[in-house]
Amino acid sequence: MLSEFRNEPYVDFSKPEIRKAQEEALSRISREFSNEYGLFINGREVKTGRTFKSYNPSHKDQVLAVFHKAGKEEVDLALQAALAAQEKWKTIDAKERAIVLLKAAQILRKRKAEVNAWMISEAGKTWIEAEADTAEAIDFLEFYGREAVRWSEIKGALPFANEATELRYIPLGVGAVIPPWNFPMAILTGMSSAALVTGNAVLLKPASDTPAIGWQFVKIMQEAGLPDGVLNFIPGSGAEIGDYLVSHPQIRFISFTGSKEVGLHIAELAARCSPGQIWIKRVVAEMGGKDSIVVDSDCDLNEAATAIVFSAFGYQGQKCSACSRAIVLEQVYDQLLELISAKTKALSVGPSEDPAMYMGPVINAAAEKKILEYIEIGKKEGRLLTGGAKAAGDGYFIQPTIFADIQPGARLDQEEIFGPVLAVIKVKDFDQALAIANATEYGLTGAVWTRDRYKIEKAKDTFHVGNLYINRKCTGAMVGAHPFGGFNMSGTDSKAGGMDYLGLFLQAKSIAERLF
Ligand code: NAP
Ligand code: MG
Repeated sequence: MLSEFRNEPYVDFSKPEIRKAQEEALSRISREFSNEYGLFINGREVKTGRTFKSYNPSHKDQVLAVFHKAGKEEVDLALQAALAAQEKWKTIDAKERAIVLLKAAQILRKRKAEVNAWMISEAGKTWIEAEADTAEAIDFLEFYGREAVRWSEIKGALPFANEATELRYIPLGVGAVIPPWNFPMAILTGMSSAALVTGNAVLLKPASDTPAIGWQFVKIMQEAGLPDGVLNFIPGSGAEIGDYLVSHPQIRFISFTGSKEVGLHIAELAARCSPGQIWIKRVVAEMGGKDSIVVDSDCDLNEAATAIVFSAFGYQGQKCSACSRAIVLEQVYDQLLELISAKTKALSVGPSEDPAMYMGPVINAAAEKKILEYIEIGKKEGRLLTGGAKAAGDGYFIQPTIFADIQPGARLDQEEIFGPVLAVIKVKDFDQALAIANATEYGLTGAVWTRDRYKIEKAKDTFHVGNLYINRKCTGAMVGAHPFGGFNMSGTDSKAGGMDYLGLFLQAKSIAERLF
């Protein structure tokens, strides 16, 4: 019997001993910086001689790790190992597989400070954002472990006269797991562990900006007793090996989280049948967002402003759920602008290892360039309220930036920026606000702030997003409570952290035995 699932609590960094433990972990991992890491195939480290470096976005030139890169040959090697290992892994009881996840959760819990330290260093997460990411990874392990057991006990078939009927959920086979860098522990852990606990074997290709965090997960799973070959780690450039991996005839499913462009490319490629392929590949693709918070005239404006600023600038706006548009009724527009700009001007930006910082760097030079380009576009499309430039330091620091008076249809109203840039749009009434909120190709998260019961109900009925929030921020989905995944170009609505999720990695076998 397992205890009931509960979300992992966050540590309290205001306590001196907790703060000290985090500082010590940061200094401990810094002694390992620039170590070399291989791929991990069939339980062994594999070095290819072709390497790439992982850098600290808070200190551009600081090398954190050197990783060996997978090529086609290593994809093949990993695939053969996975195919062989899956034959055995699929035969054991769901409870046994769940135990591996629960053990991994326990190891991760003990190693929190260290994993946080890697995220602070490699992903530019502030302390609290890193803590939330690690806690969410623990949640995924605990939740999917329990879910696997529940799925194995589902009675999916009704009785039928003179037959013993049964519906058995069985794994798909070997899949590719391709996570993004922005929740480098949580999303990578959730995507991988869901596929593993249902009896599949995995080829995990981490995002190239955060391979060292992926490595932490691989080591933890190994320590938790995951058999060799079930999880294979193949760092390398998505552009170089992605197509080969996705189109391989022996890959049964692809679980992807990342940009719309790459997600659509994968969906298209996976739909083509390669020679020798005997199935239709299953694709789970969770992609971008253009999320908005609607502010009605009757709500608590100060609270709404706090929620907007937190949702827009937490982790530098690099969350798929980040608030990138505030859509505000004209009666309270000027007042809200004042509140959000005052709150935003008070935010600190700097190296993420400094616990005093509210915001760290954006992930890399390309992201910095793209975001600064959008800021220039914003200067033409709207009125710059605060920010609008790089911030000081030797990392990729950008000031939290707000543009007022953005018009519906403008690029800042339509395109995902994935950085600390908020567009504010003025509207005449609540219906117009919802219409503008819905008028993008995305549909991931959204929030409304109102006291009006009819408007709340209207938003519930018509605000077309996978994750809708009423009178709260639009980020921070909790495993179990807020199954996560978007509509339209935001993805396949997989609802990670929800009770439907494991079904994506299973197929159902209907069995009827005649009784005579
Ligand atoms: P990305 O550029 O699409 O990369 C995601 C992953 O795909 C990386 O591991 C990347 O590898 C790999 N990749 C790149 N090209 C590939 C190809 N041709 N074939 C196979 N794999 C390939 O996205 P990102 O910049 O990491 O993440 C940011 C995006 O993720 C944003 O759009 C955000 O909204 C979205 N996101 C969505 C959710 C959600 O739940 N809906 C959650 C988090 C993030 P390399 O790193 O080697 O290029
Ligand atoms: Mg990096």
